[in-house]
Amino acid sequence: MNRRQFFRSSVSAAVATSLWSPYTYGSLLQSLTQASSSINAVTGDGADLVLEKSAVQELGDSLRGQLLVSGSDGYDVARRVLNKSIDKYPALVVRPSGVADIRNAVAFARERDLLLAVKCGGHSFSGKSTCDGGMQIDLSTFRNVRVDRKARKAYVAGGSLLGEIDHECMANGLVTTAGTVSHTGVGGLTLGGGFGRVGRRFGLALDNVTGVDIVTADGQLRHASADENPDLFWGVRGGGGNFGIVTSFEFALHEMQREVVGGNVVWPLADAREVLRFYADYCAAAPDDLYLDFIMVAPPNGADPVVIIHACYSGPKDRADALLAPVTGFGKPLVSQVAAIDYVALQRSGDDSDPRSGGEYLKSGFNDGINNNLIDGLVGGFEPHNDRSTIAFFQQSGGAISRVPSASTAFAHRWASHSVFTVVAWNPTVDRDPHVRYLRNWWSEVEPSTQGFYTNEVSDEAHRTIAENYEGNFERLLEVKNRYDPTNLFRLNANIPPTVTTG
Ligand SMILES: Cc1cc2nc3c(=O)[nH]c(=O)nc-3n(C[C@H](O)[C@H](O)[C@H](O)COP(=O)(O)OP(=O)(O)OC[C@H]3O[C@@H](n4cnc5c(N)ncnc54)[C@H](O)[C@@H]3O)c2cc1C
Repeated sequence: MNRRQFFRSSVSAAVATSLWSPYTYGSLLQSLTQASSSINAVTGDGADLVLEKSAVQELGDSLRGQLLVSGSDGYDVARRVLNKSIDKYPALVVRPSGVADIRNAVAFARERDLLLAVKCGGHSFSGKSTCDGGMQIDLSTFRNVRVDRKARKAYVAGGSLLGEIDHECMANGLVTTAGTVSHTGVGGLTLGGGFGRVGRRFGLALDNVTGVDIVTADGQLRHASADENPDLFWGVRGGGGNFGIVTSFEFALHEMQREVVGGNVVWPLADAREVLRFYADYCAAAPDDLYLDFIMVAPPNGADPVVIIHACYSGPKDRADALLAPVTGFGKPLVSQVAAIDYVALQRSGDDSDPRSGGEYLKSGFNDGINNNLIDGLVGGFEPHNDRSTIAFFQQSGGAISRVPSASTAFAHRWASHSVFTVVAWNPTVDRDPHVRYLRNWWSEVEPSTQGFYTNEVSDEAHRTIAENYEGNFERLLEVKNRYDPTNLFRLNANIPPTVTTG
């Protein structure tokens, strides 16, 4: 073992032990940093930066939570995200035990211009919640949901997962819009939008936010609501993680029965065009309490490609049969599994089967209605492959989402009937390049029939600019960014680069 390896293993051992013994953390960190040399890191702009061991020690001493470095127990779990093709190594990982830790970590990063990533559920397709050489604040230790039944509010810690919200709210006969896979994080999903099975009834996840607590770039904890810091409140509802770390969300809740009617109807790929035309027409006439996804998927290894309509009807039970019969009775389905189901179970039903958990690459857009050009682009360019899942997805919008004026929050795409995306997901051991190339070509046939992109699904090279994407809301967003994050500390997101000059 050379000197460097010795120091690294001493660091690992010290930090790993400290995880099991929080009370001795300070002294273990002391031995860690005494044994260790300084740590190489990078700034937000990518310049080299050296983190002195005394500074790292001071940061560790300031935390009640954990400070992890390469080799520490938990470091690999923290740095990895759902997209298995992302393999990044932060210089430091902070797992906060509370808001004070988040403030200390933010101050440490800001004072050094250290690259900063914030992780909640880790579902960002392009891996925005991890980084090479920066600090990652991993909010997986920061999960809690409290429901105030009388006030119909949920108070949700900024690292919580959607399943926790559904579970706690439904236990009280209440609901708010969450996404369709329960291990998605509340932070990423809500700050950029938040489509889900009850979104057409109750609006996007962000439409239900009535306040947030947020640590901004200056390290201050602020409350943002209609009455307090209203500019920030406007910006966080659609501006993603651009303005700070949300430590707590306050959501409005709605009464809803536990039992809904939902499930999948599956047809062979050969029926794709007809099913998609039917889906387009049926969506256009659907009431707010009916939610319909369309999925075209070719699994790897030669399994038969299929098209699926996924339904969730959350309205009065006696209307379900009549509303869903046209879907279950369309053409000759291979499988038709639509039945009464517990809402929380339906919200978890895709957790293990969702193919978006290999290496993955995605392109997204919005559409208003599904015309023949869009159908041609999607179906015509769809090529199954043995080494990957190939997926096209329409997530239904409209209803209450479209009735919110587009300037009311930073989220601009109120006009859309659907969020549409194409994804390829491959076993991370195979070469990604051919699959990424294929997806870009496929998307080039779809893109002209779409507008903008979903900021929650921003790819590394956004195909449309952020300014264009926010439509009429961009200038106001820029003002909020200039005010609360003038040095662009929070840049690993669909980034709005500030334009103010800082001293
Ligand atoms: C399997 C799967 C299913 C999905 N289903 C849906 C769906 O039904 N509806 C939908 O609208 N979208 C859906 N999405 C997209 C989803 O909205 C985004 O991937 C979203 O970014 C995930 O949030 P996260 O917290 O899990 O991700 P992360 O990777 O942890 O974070 C994503 C971004 O949000 C920032 N961020 C996270 N938490 C905070 C916080 N507390 N404060 C400030 N910034 C924060 C991060 O810094 C990063 O920039 C899905 C994605 C996947 C992979």
